Formats: sequence, C-alpha cells, structure tokens
Amino acid sequence: MNEKIYDLHCHSTASDGVLSPAELVQRAAEKGVNVLALCDHDSIAGLAEARTACQKQGIHLINGVEISTCWSGQGKDRGIHIVGLGFDETSPEMTALLAKQAALRLDRAIQIGEKLAQLGIPDAYQGAKALASGEVTRAHYARFLVQIGKVSNDTQAFKRYLSAGKPAYVKADWVDIATAIDVIHQAGGLAVLAHPLRYNMTNRWIKRLVVDFSQWHGDGIEVAGCGQSPDQRQLIARWANEHQLLASVGSDFHFPCAWIELGKSLTLPENVLPIWQRLLQ
Ligand code: AMP
Ligand code: MN
Ligand code: MN
Ligand code: MN
Repeated sequence: MNEKIYDLHCHSTASDGVLSPAELVQRAAEKGVNVLALCDHDSIAGLAEARTACQKQGIHLINGVEISTCWSGQGKDRGIHIVGLGFDETSPEMTALLAKQAALRLDRAIQIGEKLAQLGIPDAYQGAKALASGEVTRAHYARFLVQIGKVSNDTQAFKRYLSAGKPAYVKADWVDIATAIDVIHQAGGLAVLAHPLRYNMTNRWIKRLVVDFSQWHGDGIEVAGCGQSPDQRQLIARWANEHQLLASVGSDFHFPCAWIELGKSLTLPENVLPIWQRLLQ
C-alpha cells in the first residue's frame, strides 16, 4: 500500500504565498498530498477557505500557523519561526497573540517603507501592500523592488535592502519562543521548531536553540524539508531523538518553482516519531 503524503508547512496569500488557499489546496491534491497544514506567517486568515477546499478534495487539513519569534543566539537577536499545528483556531489566547503580531508587522512594514523612502525609493509601503492580500511581509517588499526594477530577483532584494544589517532592515519585537509555545499549547496544539538549518547559525548554536526549545516544552522539530541532503536530515533526526521531539515534515512552499514543491521528498528517517501520530490520534 502507498504511504500517505504529509506536508505540514506551506503558505498562501494570507501571508507571503502567491496561491490563494483554494489554489494551494488544488495544487496539493494534484501532487498527491493527503494531509496538509497551511502555516501562514502570524495569520490563520486562510484556514477557512483551505478547509472548504480540502473537504472537496478529500485532503485532511490540520490547522497551522508560523509564528515569528525572537531568540538571542550567536551574538545577536534572531528571528526564529515556530509552527503551531492542530490548535483550535477560535482560541482567545491564539487570537490575542496573532492580533499583537499583526500590529507589530504593520508597524514594521511602515518603518521599512520609510527607510526605503530615505534611500530614494518612494511609496514602497503602498507598493508592497498592493502585492499583499493578507499580512505584509518582507517578501512583498522584495517583490515590489523587483517590480520597479531596483533589483532583478528576491534574493538580491534581501541581500541589498531587507536582510538583517541591510539599510531597509527593521527589527521587530516579536513574541519570545517560550510564550509562543505556551499560546500554542493553550490553544490545544503542538509547537514545532521550523527549518532548523535555515537560521544562518553554526550547528553548535542551533543545538542550543533546540535545547531551549525542548526545555520550554516545544513538541516537535521539522526533520524533513525541501532541498536537504540526506546527512542534514539525519542530523536533525538525531537532535529530535536526543531531545524527545516529534518529527515534522514541511515543504515551506510559497510559489511554484523548480526546487520546492508541495509534498515532494518529505520522507522521514525510520528512527524518529512522526508528529502526525500525536496530531491525528
Ligand atoms: P518577514 O516575516 O516579513 O520577516 O518575511 C520573511 C519572509 O521573507 C520569509 O518567510 C521568506 O519567505 C522570505 N525571505 C526571507 N529571506 C529571504 C531571502 N534571502 N530570499 C528570498 N526570500 C526570503
Ligand atoms: Mn515566507
Ligand atoms: Mn519560516
Ligand atoms: Mn514558512
């Protein structure tokens, strides 16, 4: 019998994905995904549309969100992403946290626009906002900078303007990791450390992050993602087992492209405990 295909991390137009929730679900169905979690940045606005579409396609939808958090590590404040899975979307604690994060995001988006204006790029906030149907993220600024011809692709936009330390970077005072985990738990969900190898830190520091996350009662870690080497997957699997974390899988799909696809190559190593054994029980 064929194994089920799980993808527990992807984005829609509710944040910086380019497909609407219904289009995303359609694509997931075409790719054979059986269990899907939509995890927009600090937003659950896409879940209702995704649920209706999943019901039509026979896909099991798990409520998801990717919460932006702050953590100090390897000499500076870092943005760490905590995925919440399987929570009650009507939870007052979750609603309050996401409202706070949205206010921070709006504030930061306006400040990024002001910085770009000082750099001789006017009306960038309006431009980024026009490209967003939900939360305004740095990805929308990157797309705006490409649109007006300031840079030739998103990577360049981050390198020249938007990454930490670059002239249009604005630090946001996101919630801390322990609070994000607590809120996810209060809402009845499981907290997952997203894409551990994508924080630009040495393995020694990532391990410290994993230890903190585990001590703050985090539940799982993304073991399988797109574009990893087998060694990288094994390394994260080892950390998962060392710190009693469940193993999650997620493409982190944002838009159709050659190297990241919904549900693609997300097989877990044999020696870990898949998070869906807790989520679907
Ligand atoms: P924000 O949550 O507003 O800080 O935006 C972060 C989002 O921008 C991430 O979720 C990615 O989708 C995107 N992003 C971050 N760094 C890069 C990069 N170097 N190149 C392309 N996209 C990026
Ligand atoms: Mn994103
Ligand atoms: Mn992320
Ligand atoms: Mn993501």
